[in-house]
Amino acid sequence: MKELSRIYSSVAPSATLSVDAKFKQMKADGIPVVGFGAGEPDFDTPDHIKQAGIRAIENGMTKYTPAAGTVPVRKAVARRLKEDFGLDYDYTSIIVSSGAKACLFAVFSALLNPGDEVILPAPYWVSYYEQIKMTGGTPVEVFAPASQHFKITAQQLEAAITDRTKALVLNNPCNPTGMVYTKEELKALADICVRHDLYIIADEIYYCLVYGGADFVSVASLGEEIKNHTIVINGVSKAYAMTGWRCGYAACGDRQLAKVISNSISHMIGGIGAMNQAAMEEALLGPQDSVEEMRRVFEERRDYMVPRVNSIEGVSCLKPDGAFYLMMNIEKLIGRTLGGTEIRTAGDFAMAFLEKGLVAVVPCDAFGISGYVRWTYATSMDNIKEGLDRLERFLGES
Ligand code: PMP
Ligand code: GLU
Repeated sequence: MKELSRIYSSVAPSATLSVDAKFKQMKADGIPVVGFGAGEPDFDTPDHIKQAGIRAIENGMTKYTPAAGTVPVRKAVARRLKEDFGLDYDYTSIIVSSGAKACLFAVFSALLNPGDEVILPAPYWVSYYEQIKMTGGTPVEVFAPASQHFKITAQQLEAAITDRTKALVLNNPCNPTGMVYTKEELKALADICVRHDLYIIADEIYYCLVYGGADFVSVASLGEEIKNHTIVINGVSKAYAMTGWRCGYAACGDRQLAKVISNSISHMIGGIGAMNQAAMEEALLGPQDSVEEMRRVFEERRDYMVPRVNSIEGVSCLKPDGAFYLMMNIEKLIGRTLGGTEIRTAGDFAMAFLEKGLVAVVPCDAFGISGYVRWTYATSMDNIKEGLDRLERFLGES
């Protein structure tokens, strides 16, 4: 057989989805495992949103739509961006596609030429790294240590820029760290991007999920020049518990970019399910109370988990301000034997904890940091209590 694509053959499977697949397999085999792998809200999609999807099917919304999404759904995105951040986007600058994941891929594809560098603050969500490579770019990691609350500084950004740098990925609130950049921190980073004429790929998919009074600021709202350089990536998966509907969007400060993206997805995907777009429109324009209700539940879970993790000998965590992830430091466990396995990496820990402790967590090596595993608290309080009880037993027994 002829050789497969060299770029695609080098792509690693998504660490989050791999853990989730293994967890689901074990569950299907009757093993009583508890899952903290893939981050997706455990809530059902609110009923008024489901009904909008059902109504759309009944009313014959079962045909092709424009590749970039229907006009009403793109106008709904524009209205939400206006209401939430005071941002003005014409609907023609907005692309609706198959989840934020596909929007990100379309943005990287439209922006990058071979060898272009994209600055990627680490720890990062696993898919950015692979998508940048898949679209011919070079990810340039800038590491933000725990002492900086996992946030990069303006000095670090400036130092990483070369004449090949095209863009910065700014995921705020961040998956996997849960950290939220302040307005001042964002402005300092964005000013550098504008000065160097870099695009800012601002993934704000967790913007509704901030806790403890933390203030979320959309980087695009910090000035006209910044907005022009920014592509806001967002969607309804997390805020409205709609992961399976596969609806996300990219709002482009540069209208030419929106056109290039729209052209490319017209050949690749076409418009996503018409009925899904109708449900997304309802999510964005309909009652917003469920967003706050879910946010409050996530906050309660975070407030339970953080002190409990920090009370367990050998592990620790910082308190996240947003999203629904907690990164647990396991460096003190390196060198110990747990569940019959000598722990040398976070991957060893995660595997032993899954197989012997029956708890699924994601090793953070694929997120660009070693010595940590990620828990999601997008799962019930009962599961969280059980998972942490099992952690205590697992560490105590070994
Ligand atoms: N960005 C981040 C930071 C995420 O955690 C996720 C979760 N999968 C996505 C984008 C993609 O979300 P979706 O494709 O479900 O809209
Ligand atoms: N974003 C979620 C996570 O990081 C869902 C899985 C995925 O798409 O990667 O767990």
